[in-house]
Amino acid sequence: MITAAQQILKKYFGYDRFRPMQQDIIDTVLTNRDAIVLMPTGGGKSMCYQVPALVMPGICVVVSPLIALMQDQVKALAANGVNAAFLNSTQTAEVQYNIETACLGRAIKLLYVSPEKLLSNGFFSFLKRLQINLFAIDEAHCISAWGHDFRPEYTQLRSLKEQFPTVPVIALTATADRLTQKDIQEQLRLQDPAIFISSFDRPNINLTVLPGRNRFNRITDFLDQHKGQPGIIYCLSRNTTESISQKLTALGYKAAHYHAGLSANARATTQNAFLKDNIQIMSATIAFGMGIDKSNVRWVIHYNLPKNIESYYQEIGRGGRDGAPANALLFYSYVDVLNLRKMLTEGEKKQQDLQLVKLERMQQYAEATSCRRKILLNYFGETLKKSCNNCDICRNPPASFDGTVHAQKALSAVARMLEKAPLGLVIDVLRGSRSQQVLEKNFDRIKTYGAGRDLSYHDWQSYLHQMINQGLLEIAYDDAYTLKITPTGKEVLMQSKPFALVKFEPNTVTEELAPVK
Ligand code: ADP
Ligand code: ZN
Repeated sequence: MITAAQQILKKYFGYDRFRPMQQDIIDTVLTNRDAIVLMPTGGGKSMCYQVPALVMPGICVVVSPLIALMQDQVKALAANGVNAAFLNSTQTAEVQYNIETACLGRAIKLLYVSPEKLLSNGFFSFLKRLQINLFAIDEAHCISAWGHDFRPEYTQLRSLKEQFPTVPVIALTATADRLTQKDIQEQLRLQDPAIFISSFDRPNINLTVLPGRNRFNRITDFLDQHKGQPGIIYCLSRNTTESISQKLTALGYKAAHYHAGLSANARATTQNAFLKDNIQIMSATIAFGMGIDKSNVRWVIHYNLPKNIESYYQEIGRGGRDGAPANALLFYSYVDVLNLRKMLTEGEKKQQDLQLVKLERMQQYAEATSCRRKILLNYFGETLKKSCNNCDICRNPPASFDGTVHAQKALSAVARMLEKAPLGLVIDVLRGSRSQQVLEKNFDRIKTYGAGRDLSYHDWQSYLHQMINQGLLEIAYDDAYTLKITPTGKEVLMQSKPFALVKFEPNTVTEELAPVK
């Protein structure tokens, strides 16, 4: 039997079937239950509220933070014959008035609003005059201070449930670690929401990390192997995006740059040229990419280290959306860590420590000695049973040695500090440092003090990262980001379960660039 939802899918969007999770989500929303949807970019989130909006009588209000995106969505819907409109503060009073009148006249099925507009004076009383069938909160991770894209105005969205207790809410995001998920639920005051987590795995994306030396030459080598394939080079600074596109253009490539400092016009022109394959290479800051629907991006290069894994995963997720092989290549240099650290400590104090811990997880990824995909998925609370065979580590595993004794020293130090010490302090104790913090807490008196003097700070840092990545230790998101011992860690400590370590040598990270099959 063909359901009403399937008919709508076919009639307005031309698709024959729902993707596996879409069907469940839509069924849930149609029973008026709140839902949280975590689905990677390109997974098909929009359908999860657009279809129910069309099945049910009344209007669906979509909260979306990006005005440009809103316009595109409304245009695309209109092209499919769906009555949709958007309201935001950049429109004239007259335009806004006309749209409100159309909504009151039941001529609109989907109304997109910016959070500012939603919370503006008198807007709730306007909404109360409508028959709202659903609230959809797009980019819901913006509500969480744990997230990487916190927008303070989003926190006010909690008043939706207070003002409209009977209207179901669907919150959607492509990036949410476990804490953010919890935060979305609490902040939006969702009642027993159904939670849908579609796998974040993108097995077609090859993951490779290369040292940052000579990166421009490595990029041209890479381009030689991937002739004509469209891709994005993400850079930290606007200047870098410009100099890279200039250098590539001089070499005969069709390259352009994109950043928030360009005029809206220039940005739209370059973006379009890239979408239409008139430009092969886009060198850009993170300003580029949100909401861009280009399925044949074959590679994403990070010229600089991103600030955290959420951003990184979102950015590489713009590659290979058509499911065909794609490459994600990250250049890693310790200087980038230092630069980012400096930038982050200029921000608001309360956020700093968290951002620094997130940066450290990113650094761990770059310095990984075990399957990179496992590390990424683990970050989002997913476990990959087997190694992926599509990352540089899996293809070319580094030589390991028996690290059981090293691990036991570190674990024992963590235990003797009663699991109340962050990573840096554990290293200080292992190396017998006489730092103020060590002495103040009398950590120089514990048995493991100085037991790891023979190794450098950076060696210990790498080993502790490996222990975290392999699940022996875990970072608690408490005030100090203290290290805790996991059950696996206990087995290594108490029962001498063997544990392998890899000596990290930043200058020997080499791997042939993976050819696209
Ligand atoms: P997201 O918001 O999760 O990034 P979108 O909603 O933009 O993803 O959808 C990504 C692409 O997948 C769009 O081009 C959309 O038309 C397509 N799509 C969504 N659902 C289906 C489906 N059931 N069958 C085929 N294509 C679909
Ligand atoms: Zn792997």
